[in-house]
Amino acid sequence: MSKPKVVVLGAGYAGLVATRRLTQQLSAEEAEIVLINKHNYHYESTWLHEVAAGTINPNQARFMLTDVVNPKRVRLIYDNVTEVKREDKRVVLENSEVSYDYLVFALGFVSNSFGIPGMEENAYAITDIDSSRLIAEHIEYQFAQYSSSEEKHDEQLTIVVGGGGFTGIEFVGELADKVPELCKKYDIDRSKAKIINVEAMPSILPMFDDDLVAYGKQSLENRGVEFRIGTAIKECTEEGFVVGDDHELIKAGTIVWTGGVMGNPVLSESGFDMFKGKVNVGLDLRPEGEESIFVLGDCSWTMDPESGKPFPPTGQLAVQEGAKAADNIVALIRDEVVTDFVYSDKGTVASLGLSDGIGNVLDGKKLSGKAAAAMKKVVDDRSLFLVGGAKTVLKKGKFRPF
Ligand code: FAD
Repeated sequence: MSKPKVVVLGAGYAGLVATRRLTQQLSAEEAEIVLINKHNYHYESTWLHEVAAGTINPNQARFMLTDVVNPKRVRLIYDNVTEVKREDKRVVLENSEVSYDYLVFALGFVSNSFGIPGMEENAYAITDIDSSRLIAEHIEYQFAQYSSSEEKHDEQLTIVVGGGGFTGIEFVGELADKVPELCKKYDIDRSKAKIINVEAMPSILPMFDDDLVAYGKQSLENRGVEFRIGTAIKECTEEGFVVGDDHELIKAGTIVWTGGVMGNPVLSESGFDMFKGKVNVGLDLRPEGEESIFVLGDCSWTMDPESGKPFPPTGQLAVQEGAKAADNIVALIRDEVVTDFVYSDKGTVASLGLSDGIGNVLDGKKLSGKAAAAMKKVVDDRSLFLVGGAKTVLKKGKFRPF
């Protein structure tokens, strides 16, 4: 019998961890491994708000796949996945097709506008390196253009951000650092540039306790962020967000939507049963009825048996699922028993710019301010280590030895 072929879709947190672990556990005689990704690099999705604000260089948030995966052991294909033909175990790519015996589906998230009219057409979204870099460049262009134009419209300097979840708040935290820098660079009075966060729910950052949320909100307000909480966005036009029952227009030169994500649309193209934009998987990380397909990270809902609710979709979860899926594929290849995923919660830390943040860490301890910001760098470097190893942390990590 020919050796089994394991195909991994996506070189994000889940896919890259799965690939590296498969190569550690399976000999070349035991299985062929193929990794398919849109780009020839991995990027840290959890750092994209910094790329989008222009507070880090896009190259710090990415590294080449060949730096961490041995191309002699893993066949690397850089192409766009368009569909999985499950009935004949084939993956359709833009430029070719690949068959599989075992499949890891880890294509991550896309932005979800929840049908708000005009959002997809008129707002930027933080989804990958290219879209994030574009936002940073657009913001800088607005400041440069304003500075050089005779007739000045101050709303050109307004940045409006829809969504007060993790991404939206971490992004405005970075903007609170970046905007004063841009004002200085382009000789603009700081009071003319606004950062406005709009959230429909009664509070921002629902994953944190009220005291941490209050700290974070106050800290951002002190640094010039305005909040419009409990304010639903009715529409997004070229000029800005239309909000509230009186259809007020918040005009802005930069409009960014961070209010929702869903699993990659290749899931629905491939005929998976969808639930709220993702696929439900069992604790073995396979959708019901699938023997050889594992769906991971932001593409799936994995139910927490303790709470009866799905685990929150995070980088942390994706990394752990990648490792478990690899172990289960190894078990299937060796005719052993697959085992259940057990989530290990390492805590949650949100940055509010370079030197501020809030967080819950391991033992239920709460952190805020500089301690949380330092902890966030530890968390970021840990995740970089898990996907890229020690050399990558030395090259791209946030705690620099020199
Ligand atoms: P990803 O890491 O997104 O990887 C998906 C991969 O698939 C990418 O390499 C992509 O290029 C590739 N791909 C996509 N479509 C195709 C296609 N059609 N063909 C080929 N390749 C394709 N989580 C935390 O735990 N902590 C945080 O602090 C945190 N902060 C965040 C901040 C921001 C700004 C954002 C956007 C997210 C944040 N998250 C955080 C969430 C976290 O980033 C995601 O949960 C995590 O990235 C999911 O991992 P994944 O492996 O499922 O997908």
